[in-house]
Amino acid sequence: MAIYKAPVRDMQFVLHELLEAETEFKALGFDEASSDLIDTILEEGAKFCESVIFPTNRVGDEQGCKFDNGHVTTPAGFQEAYKALCEAGWMSLACDTEFGGQGLPNTLSVFFEEMLQSANMAFSLYPGLTRGAYVAMKAYASDELKRRFLPKMVEGTWSGAMALTESHCGTDLGMLRTRAEPQEDGGFHLNGTKIFITGGEHDLAENIIHLVLARLPDAPEGTKGISMFLVPKFLVNEDGSLGERNGMSCGSIEHKMGIRGASTCVMNYENAKGWLVGEPNRGLHAMFSMMNHERIMVGQQGLSQAEVAYQSAVDYARERVQGRAPTGPKFPDQPADPIIVHPDVRRMLLNSRAQSEGARALLGWVSLLTDREERHTDPTEREAAEDLVALLTPVVKAFITDMGTEACNNCLQVFGGHGYITEWGMEQLVRDVRISQIYEGANGIHAMDLVSRKLPMHQGRPVRRYLEFLNAFVKEHAEDQELEEFMAPLGEGVKRLTKATEWLAKAGAKNPDEPGAAAYDYLRLMALIAIGHMWAKSASIAVNKVDGDNTGFYRTKLSTARYFMKRVMPQTLGLLASLTSGSDTLMAPDAEAF
Ligand SMILES: Cc1cc2nc3c(=O)[nH]c(=O)nc-3n(C[C@H](O)[C@H](O)[C@H](O)COP(=O)(O)OP(=O)(O)OC[C@H]3O[C@@H](n4cnc5c(N)ncnc54)[C@H](O)[C@@H]3O)c2cc1C
Repeated sequence: MAIYKAPVRDMQFVLHELLEAETEFKALGFDEASSDLIDTILEEGAKFCESVIFPTNRVGDEQGCKFDNGHVTTPAGFQEAYKALCEAGWMSLACDTEFGGQGLPNTLSVFFEEMLQSANMAFSLYPGLTRGAYVAMKAYASDELKRRFLPKMVEGTWSGAMALTESHCGTDLGMLRTRAEPQEDGGFHLNGTKIFITGGEHDLAENIIHLVLARLPDAPEGTKGISMFLVPKFLVNEDGSLGERNGMSCGSIEHKMGIRGASTCVMNYENAKGWLVGEPNRGLHAMFSMMNHERIMVGQQGLSQAEVAYQSAVDYARERVQGRAPTGPKFPDQPADPIIVHPDVRRMLLNSRAQSEGARALLGWVSLLTDREERHTDPTEREAAEDLVALLTPVVKAFITDMGTEACNNCLQVFGGHGYITEWGMEQLVRDVRISQIYEGANGIHAMDLVSRKLPMHQGRPVRRYLEFLNAFVKEHAEDQELEEFMAPLGEGVKRLTKATEWLAKAGAKNPDEPGAAAYDYLRLMALIAIGHMWAKSASIAVNKVDGDNTGFYRTKLSTARYFMKRVMPQTLGLLASLTSGSDTLMAPDAEAF
């Protein structure tokens, strides 16, 4: 069985020491979010996720969701766990007090969400999508819709779903066909079929609020003709009570590789009553506000599964005895040494650890930027935060999910053949995490988004800002001998990222294939720098605390930072060489030659 203990100490390090969260939160007007409250949320959240949610993970995978004549039943234990989640108020941490939320920073909620995802990724999708729908509605719905729907969603009594995909269009949403006809009462009737809708139908909440993308009768072709509509499973009366069933139904659910406890639904809308959210034909723009939240959440799914896989693999590697250490027996009284003595096993474990802890720090920082973007009183600071969030969201989504899949695979490998056997729980992690590279936009599309939309945005302002920020950080620590082993590789990496950015700007202007050919390598290069920055910053804190620390925490931080700089950061060299080699070798073969 996989094991999971929430990494509270590491989360405290990120929040208190790396991000100096309490000071940041105060400056952003989150007066309640004291250091004590941060610790309470982490500690209580950890207990809740370990004891209430984690036990539902295995059974959720074994049983999956069941479909019967339009009804979806979630696996045993999900209803009780969901009720406990809502009653304890975990759904409402970062929602506004105006709608019954607790008004805490997004950054704090994000750390709880990591624990929830680690404990059961499939289960976490139901509250995750509700939170995403909340974010989009808060930004774009009318006051009347907010008043009527948001408080119940914040409580978790009603859940959310997002309905974009149709059988003929996933990435290319410009082709979607679902129609919305205006009605005399100001509402709309929606007709069409969506596929792959997570949490479109289930038995956890009393009502399910779908945000559906559809076309108005006079809409222009393509992505410029898409609008967003709120479509509830049950209509809602003036007084907030549930009315009649709306014209929508679940036609079937998918049988799939992983996250089997999350329902993946075919949804039919037949004269379903809906309300416009945001402006007509600007639905994709409105949906992106939800999707940006979801993208950071999906990036975090990669981390959450990597954490469980790493903990389980370390436990196994300490127990399993095979062969002898290359330097001679470490446990001569045993028939063999534990496999953790072998350099190659350590490679797999340390890769997972170095990337996961770095990713946790990066996710924490990007989440803090989302709080700054929303709340900072200085418009220049808000703009700076907005630029960095825009630039780093595709990086977080794509790289951390790639890393999560790689870590789960490596940690399964540590178990040898036993990793392939169901009862150890490792193969479930590999199956569950895999979808994170595909949904919320396939990772290749995020790489294209970074290169084709985010780099040229505001004449290159976000990427210039990021490079300047990184250079300033390296310069600030340049004289510190103790930090040279961390700052020098980061500085070299930043130079490579700068070269890659300049190369792309020139090459892309000459040949339209270049951005697409370079995109994935470029995204990985930026991600390694972003995570390297987090490691260098972590090291700058740890060097001052390592003496006198009898827990070993800071010593391990430093040794993992060293590992990252020496054995992971050099990948940036290869990525630069690969991406600047150009698109010719990719585009040369005819389609028939493949
Ligand atoms: C379990 C599960 C849950 C899901 N949940 C939801 C949900 O809740 N709501 C919802 O609306 N959707 C949901 N989806 C749909 C998901 O977001 C899409 O599957 C995904 O966006 C990819 O679309 P597609 O499957 O149509 O692939 P396609 O668009 O056909 O793409 C296939 C491949 O081609 C590549 N590709 C396509 N176009 C380009 C391009 N222009 N440039 C480069 N490469 C390209 C892609 O990277 C991809 O790897 C879910 C899917 C699954 C499997």
